[in-house]
Amino acid sequence: MIPEPKYKRILLKLSGEALAGPSGYNIDPAVLEQYSQEIKQVVDMGIQVAIVIGGGNIFRGVSGERSGIDRVQGDYMGMLATVINAMAIQSSLEKHGMYTRVMSAIKMEQVCEPYVRRRAVRHLEKGRIVIFGAGTGSPYFTTDTTASLRAIEIESDVVLKGTKVDGVYTADPMKDKTATRYTTISFEDVYEKKLNVMDLTAFTLCQENNLPIIVFNMNDRGSLMRVVLGDGDAGTLIT
Ligand code: UDP
Repeated sequence: MIPEPKYKRILLKLSGEALAGPSGYNIDPAVLEQYSQEIKQVVDMGIQVAIVIGGGNIFRGVSGERSGIDRVQGDYMGMLATVINAMAIQSSLEKHGMYTRVMSAIKMEQVCEPYVRRRAVRHLEKGRIVIFGAGTGSPYFTTDTTASLRAIEIESDVVLKGTKVDGVYTADPMKDKTATRYTTISFEDVYEKKLNVMDLTAFTLCQENNLPIIVFNMNDRGSLMRVVLGDGDAGTLIT
């Protein structure tokens, strides 16, 4: 029997840094390939997939500021970086036979569609993967906040935050060997214990709109599939 997915529509947040692979910069074709294979598995199950991709592998406004670039200018550079990543993912997904649209919060007609909520939802209903580029279109925000905002707008069932670790831990597992992973945790406990899941703007948006978050390891083969099937061990569910 084919297992029933727990979610019908998901928003997958991928960091730009993850796309860079071990080198930490640019775009690693091996990572693109792996991500496309993982995403195809869930698309083939009939799950509607939206993606928000970061830009940290190319540019971040905050780091630009440290080297003398005006913060707002740098943030726009960061947003443009996310469009480069979105196009790379689009190309890779299409190579694997998936239908996709990049929708940008900053108009660039020759490259992709502008973000229009109703059109995004329509694409999803037709089985197209929608990749949201250019963040929120405004400086001083992050792509985590973009993920929360777009997920709420398109009525996604959940935000899946794909990271390098397999969930939320009691302490940093890289530094503290006794740290243990939460299978589930409440929004309140994450605040109270000062656990680092997303920036506060992104996190609060999810909490206020009753949108669950799952933190999982996107580099662990098959874990995206396990998460959408509702496997409680595949990550940490925040509700
Ligand atoms: N950014 C922005 N507004 C947004 C989203 C992103 O100004 O709504 C800029 C900001 O400079 C940020 C950069 O784009 O540092 C890249 O995004 P982010 O750092 O979230 O990428 P990630 O850490 O996920 O790779």
